[in-house]
Order: sequence, then C-alpha cells, then structure tokens
Amino acid sequence: MRETNFLIENNARYLWHPMAHPAEMQAHPPRIVNAAEGVEIVDVHGKKVLDAVGGLWNVNLGYSCGPVKKAIRDQLDELPYYSTFRGTTNSPLIELSYELAEWFKEDGLTRSFYTSGGSDSVETCLRLARQYHKINGQPERTKFIALKKGYHGTHFGGASVNGNQNFRRNYEPLLPGVFHLPAPWTYRNPFGTSDGAEIAAAIGRLFEEEIAFQGADTIAALIVEPVLGAGGVIVPHATFLPLMREICDRHGILLIADEVITAFGRTGAWTGSRLWGVKPDLMSTAKAITNGYFPFGAVMISEKVAEVFESNRNAVGTIGHGYTYSGHPVGAAAALAMLKETKRLNVAANAAARGEELLRGLDNLENKHELVGDVRGKGLMCALELVSNREKKTPAGKEVLQKVQDVAYDAGVLVRTSGPNVILSPPLVITAQDVGRIVDALDAGLAAAG
Ligand code: PLP
Repeated sequence: MRETNFLIENNARYLWHPMAHPAEMQAHPPRIVNAAEGVEIVDVHGKKVLDAVGGLWNVNLGYSCGPVKKAIRDQLDELPYYSTFRGTTNSPLIELSYELAEWFKEDGLTRSFYTSGGSDSVETCLRLARQYHKINGQPERTKFIALKKGYHGTHFGGASVNGNQNFRRNYEPLLPGVFHLPAPWTYRNPFGTSDGAEIAAAIGRLFEEEIAFQGADTIAALIVEPVLGAGGVIVPHATFLPLMREICDRHGILLIADEVITAFGRTGAWTGSRLWGVKPDLMSTAKAITNGYFPFGAVMISEKVAEVFESNRNAVGTIGHGYTYSGHPVGAAAALAMLKETKRLNVAANAAARGEELLRGLDNLENKHELVGDVRGKGLMCALELVSNREKKTPAGKEVLQKVQDVAYDAGVLVRTSGPNVILSPPLVITAQDVGRIVDALDAGLAAAG
C-alpha cells in the first residue's frame, strides 16, 4: 500500500466526496479506513475504533458477517451478472422475492422491484405512485407531499421531496408540485408545544388544509420516513403515522414509507411502519439489505397497488422504469444471506435493548453537559443535538461538533455529525459493553468541547 501522505494528497487532488466541499480535503483530510472487523474499523495508522456510524446506517450485522461474504463470493463464481429487463431473470432474485414477501407480508407488502440503492428506491416509489394513479384513471394526481427535515436521497425526485435546504438549493429548480409539512419534532416546531401528540394533530390539520388547497385529485402520494434519520433522528409521536395513513386513505393519496434506514430492525421493530402499526402502499428499502456489502435496494409494493398494475393490460401498466443493476444476482444472494442472519441473530431485539441503554447513557450526558440541548432516539438510531445556549436553543457551531467528533475518535469511537447533531447508528449487533464505550467517548468529546 502507498504511504499515508500520498493517499491524503491524492485524495485531495483527485477525489470529490459526497456531502463535502472539494476544497476542504487538504485542511481536513478524511479518515482513511483500510480494514474492519466485528463492529470496529481500522484506519490507515492502524488505529481501531468502534464504528458508531455503522458504515452509513447500513452495516447492521457488522463487518465480519461470514454468510453474507460467502454468498457474494459464491454468487460471483456462479453468475456474476445478468439483467432482469423483460425476458430474463435469475434464481437468487426469485428466491429473494419469495423471502421478502414473507418478511414484509405483515406490512401488507408482497411484490418487489429492485434497485441499486436508496435514492433509486425512492425514485422508483415516486414514479410507481404517479403511474398507479394514471392506470387508475386519475392522471392528474401528480403532486407529492413530504416533511421538512425529511431525507430521501439525491436523485432529482428524491431531492425534490427532501426537506433540507442543503440538499436542495444548489440543484434547484427541482420537481414542481412538491409541498412540505413541518416535521413531527418536539424540540423545534412552529406550534409552540413540545407535546408529541399535539404536534402530530397539528401536522394532520396542516395536511388536510394543504389537500383542500391543492385538491386531493392532484396529489399522488405522501412520503415519510417512519423515524426521520439524516434530518437528525426525529422520532414522531405514536399517533403521527397512523393519522397520516388515515388522512391519505380518506383522500385517495398513497403513503410511501421511506425505510431505507428502518426496514431491517434498526428501530427495534422489523420495519418502521410496523413500529407504528401502519401499512404503507409502497416502501423503499436499501442499505442494510446486503449489510452494506453490495449496492442494492428493493421497493416493496402493497397488494392494493399491485392489483391495479397487474389487472391492467394496457401499455400504461408497463413499468417503463428500471436500472441495469435492478435485481443484480450478487446483490440478491447477499440479501438472502442477510435476511437469514438477521433473523437468526434476532437483531431487532438487540437493537431495542441496546437502544434503551444507549438512550439512558445519552440522557446522563444531557444532565452532565450544557452543550447537549436534546437527546432523541429509537432503537439504534439516536442523536444528540448540541447547542451553545440551552435556553435559546442556539445550534452549536461546526467547530464544536468537530471537536466532539475528534475527541471521541481519539477515545476509540467514530461518530457522525450533521449540522448541530451527533448521529449514532451503530451495527445492531453491538454489546452492552460497546454501548458503554460510545457513551464514554462522547462524554470525553463533550467535556473537551464544552
Ligand atoms: N432515503 C433515506 C431515508 C435515506 O436515509 C437515504 C440515505 O441515507 C436515502 C433514501 C438514499 O439512499 P442512498 O444514499 O443509498 O442513495
């Protein structure tokens, strides 16, 4: 391997990173990760740290998941690629579709359509939602409603429903006909209350108002994350998603659950929709579907939507959408192995138990450090929101977040920061001892930055 300086310099010279300024690489070189084992990564200097980011919310089973690795190797030998465009398919994908139908049948989702990742899955949901209405004789239902603070990937459709200016402004104009409701956020919201049920009801009223204003017959779908991830781990009140479902039903609007993060146990339930007792019409998944080892995603489709497509024999029912890598056999084999391991290890239960411990630890940090304005989480997706003034809820500056992250790293734990938030999404197989390591490292980081 080349020496470290060569890597840092050429990373800065030749490589553009997602969500980073190309000119910041020399001053703030990213950590070069060279190896990983269990729930730890090893950097170019040989330092081992616990990965409390879990790759990017996706390495649910850690880095040493033998069955997924073996499935990928074996499938590469057997059939390394073939397309699933009209006319061909492949065996692991058929088996996966069978298993996913079993997995998601409790959510009412039995048909699957495959993608190369989360943004593709979201794009697919948006397109299928519009097509559903066209087949159904309501071609004017083209608009989408989404949540502020929501994150739905970076394709033009996904960016259009995104609720964060950072992912929108530089790429506007985006899709017309997209409208945003406030996030179900107790810490910051326009309703002057921190009562989750009141906030949910207020958003419901705004949703109804927007529907009346736009005309229900122009709206295709509402897209929501069951727990908002990248927007800062915003956990809605238990009444929120059922209320959104009920309003959608009353107005013939499809509900798209973006479960790119939540689909395979991260919240402590097997899906985020199930966590809140809601059945969506379409669900986007990706990330943990291959434990992060292969770029892959699946859109799950409800019986209601499937019925409309499948009973329509006209050209408008043909799915004029798909990717070269839709249904990649290696991804399918990896996903099959992931499902088996995920079930065998019952990682949702571990996510729920470790998540409780983690939240308790973070609550203690909130009591101890003025810097912590809010603590949120469900299962193993948690966030600390840092503030420079608790009363005024002034978001902490970039340098503070950087300091917390750097000191935590030195103490042996990698955490992610996004805006004023420290985001935690460790592998779902972490132990109680790992939880302790995360809390201790953050304690050190907060003490140094406070
Ligand atoms: N949707 C949600 C909820 C996500 O969290 C993400 C990524 O973090 C995406 C979509 C986009 O997925 P990808 O980055 O794989 O395109």
